[in-house]
Amino acid sequence: MFPVEFNKGSKALVVTGTKQAVLWHHRYGHLHSKGLKVLSTKEMVLGLPEVGEFEVCEGCLYGKQTRASFPTGKAWRAGKILELLHADLCGPMSTSSLGGTKGLPDSFWSEAIATAVYVLNISPTRAVQDVTPFEAWRGKKPRVGHLWVFGCIAYALVNLRTKLEEKSEKFIFIGYSHQSKAYRLYNPTKKNSGD
Ligand SMILES: [Zn+2]
Repeated sequence: MFPVEFNKGSKALVVTGTKQAVLWHHRYGHLHSKGLKVLSTKEMVLGLPEVGEFEVCEGCLYGKQTRASFPTGKAWRAGKILELLHADLCGPMSTSSLGGTKGLPDSFWSEAIATAVYVLNISPTRAVQDVTPFEAWRGKKPRVGHLWVFGCIAYALVNLRTKLEEKSEKFIFIGYSHQSKAYRLYNPTKKNSGD
């Protein structure tokens, strides 16, 4: 849906207008434009530019469609706890609909949920006024300049034995590391992941 190519050293992707708004909408796990506006005008986070309105997001349309056909009440029961949690967060969606990248196995639910929770903690919520849950808990504003789109393609330099043997490999971004300021990446060729 919105693949972004990253190179080591180039952190910012220069985009303008609607494209920028949609990019932040995706980085923020499909947060509505009103929420993004609140974050920026109330200066609740650091590193978020002023983003305007955007029209249609394919992922959101798909999500709404899936939710509309989702049986309510007793008729539907989650098969697993994670399924239920995720249904509560975003409605039933496949991991591929979260980021749009094909090749990400559906066993990536836990990564998808961890990323959704990470983003929710730096989003506006009714639970606390004018601050994010992150700030309410830690007493400082979160930085958001490092946010990536879940499921996007990332190119990272892989160190072989020597500097000369360094090469760029293709990965899929699957979340944020809890131990360090790092990304969790999945290698679709080798079918493994790590920080
Ligand atoms: Zn969306």
